[in-house]
Amino acid sequence: MNMNPQEPTAPYGIDPSNPLFNVTWDMDREEGRAVNLMKAARTEQYPEPLVDIPDELRRSALVTSVDTLLNWARKSSVFPLQFGLACCVFEMIATAMSRFDISRFGMEAFRATPRQADLMIVAGTVTWKMAVPLRRLFDQMSEPKWVISMGVCATSGGPYYQSYSVVPGVNHIVPVDVYVPGCPPRPDALLYGIMQLHEKVKRYTLTHTPAGQE
Ligand code: SF4
Repeated sequence: MNMNPQEPTAPYGIDPSNPLFNVTWDMDREEGRAVNLMKAARTEQYPEPLVDIPDELRRSALVTSVDTLLNWARKSSVFPLQFGLACCVFEMIATAMSRFDISRFGMEAFRATPRQADLMIVAGTVTWKMAVPLRRLFDQMSEPKWVISMGVCATSGGPYYQSYSVVPGVNHIVPVDVYVPGCPPRPDALLYGIMQLHEKVKRYTLTHTPAGQE
């Protein structure tokens, strides 16, 4: 029993006369509005950002050398973003462990902030609710940036295809460079996808589409 009338009766400043759902109700509605807006607007898929194959004869030796140097630096210093959505993420985590060892590519430093990352590995089911923060994280990543869609859920909705809550492919939200199939894909499949991304990065050239642009 509370003997002191001045002392608050509930801990942590919670006001029992104003339940928590009253406080968060506006936030929930605002989030619902953002999700519904995205759901209505994102009906088309982004095409895969293809790299133009340059006409070798029209390129100078200088541009070719700078391209090679730039692309080597880019492909050798890809920093993945540290985030995951569902079961696929455990395979992604296994990729960074000692048995598979993503550090052979200099990629073991998964960044905790999008501003220090240039590769988003979308590992798992993308719900419409998560589509909003996913796009926000992508927008905050530094250019040039790339996306790998890992697993059938991220690529097409997978077992949840045409469900009301799951995005039918993350390429409705962000442009995807490499798709890794499987449910879940094994870590070696993800490593193969990363090697395919390296091959793509090696083909960028200063005289064509800037690297990693939408
Ligand atoms: S693809 Fe399979 S393992 Fe990956 S998130 Fe979907 S259900 Fe899970």
